[in-house]
Amino acid sequence: MNKIGKIAIVVVLIVAVVAVIVAKRNKSGRDGTMPGPGAAGQQVPAEYKPDQLTGKALPALIDIGAGTCIPCKLMAPILEELKKELEGKLVVQFLDLSIYPGLSREYGIRVMPTQIFYDASGKELFRHEGFYSKEDMLAKWKELGVDFTAPELPTFERLAPAQVDNRPRDSICYMCDGDIGPKTLATVQTDKGQVRLCSPHCYFIMYSCLTEDKTALEKRVSLTDWATGKLMPASSATCLYALDSRTGRPIVKAFADKGNAAAEQETSGGSSIGWTVLQQEELATRCGFCDRAVYPQDAAVVRAGGVSTWGCCSHCALGVAARTGLDIEVRERDRLTGSQIVVKTLHGGVASLEPATAVAWFGRRRKPDGTWGSAGCFHQGFFANLDNLKKWVEQNPYETGRLISISQALAAKMKLSPQQIQKACKIGECAPK
Ligand SMILES: [Zn+2]
Ligand SMILES: [Zn+2]
Repeated sequence: MNKIGKIAIVVVLIVAVVAVIVAKRNKSGRDGTMPGPGAAGQQVPAEYKPDQLTGKALPALIDIGAGTCIPCKLMAPILEELKKELEGKLVVQFLDLSIYPGLSREYGIRVMPTQIFYDASGKELFRHEGFYSKEDMLAKWKELGVDFTAPELPTFERLAPAQVDNRPRDSICYMCDGDIGPKTLATVQTDKGQVRLCSPHCYFIMYSCLTEDKTALEKRVSLTDWATGKLMPASSATCLYALDSRTGRPIVKAFADKGNAAAEQETSGGSSIGWTVLQQEELATRCGFCDRAVYPQDAAVVRAGGVSTWGCCSHCALGVAARTGLDIEVRERDRLTGSQIVVKTLHGGVASLEPATAVAWFGRRRKPDGTWGSAGCFHQGFFANLDNLKKWVEQNPYETGRLISISQALAAKMKLSPQQIQKACKIGECAPK
């Protein structure tokens, strides 16, 4: 800690000690004396009522006292400090009972000053009567799960895969790195060779993040015939589109022969659709940041300005704040356990995080030229805590990257220019390799 920091702590401690002494001496004095029922005063303005000051995606500290009471006066500089230091993280407001006596009923005040702690949703968490030091208030916030003094995260990273990826390149999906099953392979013929994808869905993800002209692409796509395992032009396929009862995700089975499709439909259900309808279905739900096709079951839910959208990965979900300029709420699942993580943003910062221990994994990969780049949407994620992240990294030996805070993940998106946002997650600006 630097010298100024130490001096500041000493000063605060002295103020706190003086305040306690003063508060004791004034037991029957001006500090705890509430304005009488007949006290003259103005009506409480609407903006000072609890529902207006709290529940704005930020926790709030409301201090209620009077300009004349001594402990209230001692609170004033502390509140100013907190207001400045925790801007964007905590709403700090002093309310003066001598001007608005009605506040005592509005907030149920018995003693001056009273500090009331609210969570980001506006729920009262705690209240304290009398002088309250800065350290004690910060400690109380921490106890309540809101840590404004959060230390730097420990370093946790993996720079080289724990296991060499020896899978034959032909068996790995170009888009998601997943294994390609023999019945769902989709291919795209390009000038540079054949792109292999694990499923029609990964084809549509690739389609939606290609920036080149895509009109000719359709003629170069092939799907695997579910019945024979042979490739066929996608445009001629009859597709069975069903929802997996366990995951809720669509299952797409492609057939060259309508009879085979009908036979499969009889035994396992699903609706029979052509390539064009499948394309409409698959491209209907997009990431609100990068425009990739997503299945809602796999995506983070993002609320922005009263509208719902999706994040194809947790980092993209935060990117919606950058793209729209709005305060957003992200509901994402821990990649290991599936437990819910809720992030609310305000003015481009993290306003609240549930659970408070949640962290992010920034998937990074060393490029052939030796520099590092993002490993992409399939390799990012949120975790309810560092332990879950470590377990997930252990279970996924090919993943490389590092631990970052969710604030850092948001900050990385907020600093992008509109041009960079437009290019985000796009496959270069050229044809697939
Ligand atoms: Zn894939
Ligand atoms: Zn995305």
